[in-house]
Amino acid sequence: MRRLEQLVAISNKLCIQFRPKISTDKHFTTIKTGGGCASTVGQNWYSTKELTLANGCIHEQTILHELLHTLGFWHEQSRPDRDNYVTIQYANVQPGTEHNFNKYTTSVDTLGTPYDYNSLMHYGSTAFSSNGQATIVPKNSAAQIRPVPAGLSPIDILEVQLYYQCTGSSGK
Ligand SMILES: [Zn+2]
Repeated sequence: MRRLEQLVAISNKLCIQFRPKISTDKHFTTIKTGGGCASTVGQNWYSTKELTLANGCIHEQTILHELLHTLGFWHEQSRPDRDNYVTIQYANVQPGTEHNFNKYTTSVDTLGTPYDYNSLMHYGSTAFSSNGQATIVPKNSAAQIRPVPAGLSPIDILEVQLYYQCTGSSGK
């Protein structure tokens, strides 16, 4: 129960309010302990989803990242226009994990927001690296991917507001 309370408190940073399920709720997200940090991506809010949090995932940023998946958001570097902003260095990617760098060309709406190197949904520059070298390199040499590990970026918050047509924070 403590974990649920923590999640509700964290979600208050968004304009979406999570609350414990009640018996009349038809669609809900199941949050469970598991072997990793993962979530179903909710392309349709009116569907039942599952969010898995291993003990190592109980950090605010990780929980928020998974909650954004639940709310319907993919990874930033999967955007259809990502090749204009980053280069994937497949030579440095661990064999067998290339699918993590898939680009989604359909069913993704960028909501008119700019590519966001600071998004909480952006992989780090050495994600799935086989050799410690960068796997994601910004095209703009002045840009850095999440240079300071931080929570939600201003664009992350804006995207949730645009997608759910709500503003501000529900938190008190
Ligand atoms: Zn993710």
